[in-house]
Amino acid sequence: MPKIVVVGAVAGGATVASQIRYLDKDSSITVFDQDETMSFAACGMPYYLGGHIENEQDLIATTPEKFKDEKNIIVNMNHRVMRIDREKKIVEVKDLLSNKTFEDAYDVLILSPGGTPIVPKTDGLESAKVFTLRNFEDMRNIHSFIEAESPKSCVIVGAGFIGLEMAENLVELGMKVTLVEKSPQVMNILDVDSSDIVEKELHEHGVKVYKENFITHVDGRNITLDQCEKLEADFILMSVGVSPSTELASEAGLTIGDTRGIVTNEFMQTNDSAIYALGDAAENKDFITGQPKRVPLAWPAHRQAYIVANHIAGQEIPFKGMLGTSIAKVFDLSVGMTGLGERNLNESDLYFKTITQKSKSNAGYYPDHGDLFLKIHYDAENRKVLGAQVVGEKGVDKRIDVIATAIYAGLTIDDLQALELAYAPPYSSPKDPVNMASYRAK
Ligand code: FAD
Repeated sequence: MPKIVVVGAVAGGATVASQIRYLDKDSSITVFDQDETMSFAACGMPYYLGGHIENEQDLIATTPEKFKDEKNIIVNMNHRVMRIDREKKIVEVKDLLSNKTFEDAYDVLILSPGGTPIVPKTDGLESAKVFTLRNFEDMRNIHSFIEAESPKSCVIVGAGFIGLEMAENLVELGMKVTLVEKSPQVMNILDVDSSDIVEKELHEHGVKVYKENFITHVDGRNITLDQCEKLEADFILMSVGVSPSTELASEAGLTIGDTRGIVTNEFMQTNDSAIYALGDAAENKDFITGQPKRVPLAWPAHRQAYIVANHIAGQEIPFKGMLGTSIAKVFDLSVGMTGLGERNLNESDLYFKTITQKSKSNAGYYPDHGDLFLKIHYDAENRKVLGAQVVGEKGVDKRIDVIATAIYAGLTIDDLQALELAYAPPYSSPKDPVNMASYRAK
């Protein structure tokens, strides 16, 4: 009966513990997490703050009590794992409420510690009201501040997924929102033309965007940008990304890779076969290029949990890598992407072509239709689909998922014309935009 210890009790940690129990009724499973709240839906937090979800408890999937009663899994919240002794196979744990430290032995250790929000060093930042949004307590802090102070304005630093989702939700609460982004475009992982559509949407909803810019000085409500622009805001939301939590792993001598994540093999084992890593902190590989890749999103954490649990149970299901498929809502637009974008492709040695398709999401005569911008990159030699971006008002999820599946299956751009995709006027056209792009690809 193996003794399993898991670090982290949210997306990856809680899922892997539960999957292990599903496959093995006997093993002893103990989970430690330094925070207060387990298994919360981080992805739902912007929508709770925007008032779309009324009760914060709806974001919590389960509790330590339920895990104990229903799955016989011990979850210790407010417990930080401080150190791993790989030789003795023990972890040193600190109970953050009592400040007491103790040791716990493992046969198998699973690390799913996620990441910590990056807060760039900024002159005078302590004089302002500054938030990050990573865990449940962060969300509560922002919510309490909004309730108590009724802020009218916010500067969001970072125009990635979370920054844009928060921009939308804060605008819907009636706030004036300004985005400050260091790179030359919003949603830096998009191709420029896709990003331009997103930026236009932000402008149309009153969000001011300062690109190639960052905050140099803060004095209370007064914020100075690099290019000397002066802004005022009741609070600042720092949303410039997360840094993978790898201190425990690196201090224990586990290999940290090019993406700053814990290096893992096809079964998510680290260089110590008794220790697995998954989720935001784990580095694996790109599905297409095989290059090191780390995708800090929910799908990898959940998928990798399945791989780890099965491997521990004796089933070898190799992880084949990540495409980074993702989607976000930005006001009336949805923005989806999968596989390699132009920047990755230009950096790779792949010779690629691109087809761009502007269509309606569904039958133009049907009252509820929208514009769709679809862009597919494919290998110029073997014609395999390498990546896609879809931006539009409707039907983005359907197209991006079809193309993600096509990449996984190794389909070529020419195969896409033959896909028999569901059609009725509210959903598509007899020739779906994915078929159309393929007809036109040279
Ligand atoms: P986490 O879920 O972050 O869990 C790690 C846990 O480990 C934390 O509770 C941490 O405190 C704990 N921990 C760390 N170190 C220790 C230690 N030494 N001892 C004990 N405990 C420790 N993804 C999507 O795919 N789609 C979305 O729409 C989406 N929206 C998001 C919106 C927001 C606001 C945020 C913050 C994230 C969003 N994500 C989204 C990302 C997704 O939530 C993460 O990718 C996922 O939670 C990662 O899972 P994880 O287990 O690696 O880390």
